[in-house]
Amino acid sequence: MDALSTRHGFPSEKARDRGPAYLAADCSEHNFYAIDRGLRDLLPLYLAPRDFRALEPHFDRLGRLAGGRLDELARIADKHPPVLNPRDRFGRDEDWIDYHPSYREMETIAFGDFQFHAMSHRAGTLGMDRPLPAVAKYALQYLFVQSEFGLMCPISVTDTSIHLIRKFAHQELKDYLLPKMLSGDCATMWKGTQFMTERAGGSDVGAIETMARHEDGEWRLYGDKWFCSHADADVALLLARPEGAPTGTAGLALFALPRRLKDGSRNAFRIVRLKDKLGTRSMASGEILLEGAVAYLVGDARAGLKQMMEQVNLSRLSHGVRAAAMMRRCLNEAMVSAQSRIAFGKTIIEYPLLRRQLLKITLPAEQSLSMFLFAAHAMDRANAGDNDAALRLRILTPLLKFRACRDNIPVATGAMEVRGGNGYIEEWVNARLIRDAHIGVLWEGTSNINALDIVTRAVGRSRAHRALAAELDKLLGEAETIPAGFRNRLRDRLESALDFAERVAAEPALEANARAAASALYHATSAVVMTWEASRPGNDARRALLARLVLDMKLSAKDPLQPSRRDWEREGAELIFAGRKIALAELAGLLDG
Ligand SMILES: Cc1cc2nc3c(=O)[nH]c(=O)nc-3n(C[C@H](O)[C@H](O)[C@H](O)COP(=O)(O)OP(=O)(O)OC[C@H]3O[C@@H](n4cnc5c(N)ncnc54)[C@H](O)[C@@H]3O)c2cc1C
Repeated sequence: MDALSTRHGFPSEKARDRGPAYLAADCSEHNFYAIDRGLRDLLPLYLAPRDFRALEPHFDRLGRLAGGRLDELARIADKHPPVLNPRDRFGRDEDWIDYHPSYREMETIAFGDFQFHAMSHRAGTLGMDRPLPAVAKYALQYLFVQSEFGLMCPISVTDTSIHLIRKFAHQELKDYLLPKMLSGDCATMWKGTQFMTERAGGSDVGAIETMARHEDGEWRLYGDKWFCSHADADVALLLARPEGAPTGTAGLALFALPRRLKDGSRNAFRIVRLKDKLGTRSMASGEILLEGAVAYLVGDARAGLKQMMEQVNLSRLSHGVRAAAMMRRCLNEAMVSAQSRIAFGKTIIEYPLLRRQLLKITLPAEQSLSMFLFAAHAMDRANAGDNDAALRLRILTPLLKFRACRDNIPVATGAMEVRGGNGYIEEWVNARLIRDAHIGVLWEGTSNINALDIVTRAVGRSRAHRALAAELDKLLGEAETIPAGFRNRLRDRLESALDFAERVAAEPALEANARAAASALYHATSAVVMTWEASRPGNDARRALLARLVLDMKLSAKDPLQPSRRDWEREGAELIFAGRKIALAELAGLLDG
């Protein structure tokens, strides 16, 4: 819909200059904010007017960078992955990682210019006199990741490490770490990371074997961390078991591990090797051997996992945003290709089958946009002391992480297919988008682990789905310009999704349904949110058509042996791809029935 509408003059003359007219163009050199109708329409709904006014120039500037210099740097960095030097020339274990200058330049944009890591912790970033709201931070992440995915890991994990240290560390540790971590000076600042996974356990965190010993008045760590992204970070948060502590998760404590000691010498741990990864190739993920490394206890030694879960949940939300971002890039690329590639004498977007494919890319991309803004808005309300919003965020976070990261994979493949054979070739962005898409279902918990978190804990224990349902009911009440029949259908499907999740939570024998129940909740929630967005005065009513698509394609039974002859879908697709804002009156008939 909002992808590269003809209103923005696409395909541009510039793009056409690049080759014969029958070849499809790509999105480079476009402003990714300016071409994102959905984001531009929705931000004023979720941000206070003064924040939107103050920050819009930065969205626009990052949009330009993301479609220009950042995109170019990301392409180069992906082809020049980091290299580990395990020893110096004297044979000392002074390990260090070399990065390509393109990666360093991206770091300067992220940590020096935009200061993503600090923007929600202190005033002074992007000219703001206070920390940025979560909605703005995640919208900026969304723009950045449309070009560069790998570096968002160090950015986000520095941000989330700062959160944990601010919240749980004792004052002396805060005084030591925070000024360095909150700095915007790339030459001297300290970046963070999180090392949890070990060979014995990724999902099964309680199996962690790293041992913490109290020796001569300080904590020293012994163990082997198997997956360590941003391997050479200046400070890592990790879980280890103090000697004598119980087995399982109850015995895990949270530690901060500095790379350098206070006298500047190397701490006693080594990066043993870097992983040769499918995606996220610009960023270094390694294996770390802890050989009596000095670490600082963070917070309550008996609440290590509970504290660490705050970082995990923040990362999960960011992962959902990253998936939304990559799906947007996929959608934009697919729309550009579809509008410019000629086959059998027509541009391929004119073919019904191709339009159906585009809808399948559009729908999850738009759902995830609404879902991350809705979740980030709940975070802002929760930070302001709203307990119901905190409960909503509890369930929205894994819902977004689970479903958006899974959707990202078929969307990336679908966008490649729309581009045809060129999409498979590494010179085009699609191949990288496909490689990067897959990590989303592993990092910060696999799909199963997130689905179990939703059903067992968020629904079963916290009853967070009921807080979500109350808010969704309120939104449906506010969407009074939407035909009542359609809103009733939405209410009905939402209630069924909530009942389904409750049943799965209550009956252990139904555990294998956890993913289906989580998907149903995600789809029903996104349909209500998009309907509400469509109903807001002046907003693009096409989001309600997308909500109807969710109802019909994701929340209704269909017979696979019957042709789907949905006239409304054909008409709806015309409106969705028309590239112009439409009023509710124009689609009222398409919402009912
Ligand atoms: C490139 C990369 C970078 C990474 N970076 C980091 C990092 O910086 N820090 C960090 O801590 N970790 C990192 N990880 C680790 C990542 O978080 C784990 O790989 C992930 O959590 C899965 O753990 P595992 O690999 O041990 O798989 P396992 O836990 O062994 O899972 C294997 C399969 O079993 C399934 N499974 C497990 N338990 C259940 C259950 N109860 N019910 C149903 N299915 C189940 C899982 O869903 C999965 O499909 C990284 C991973 C990769 C690939």
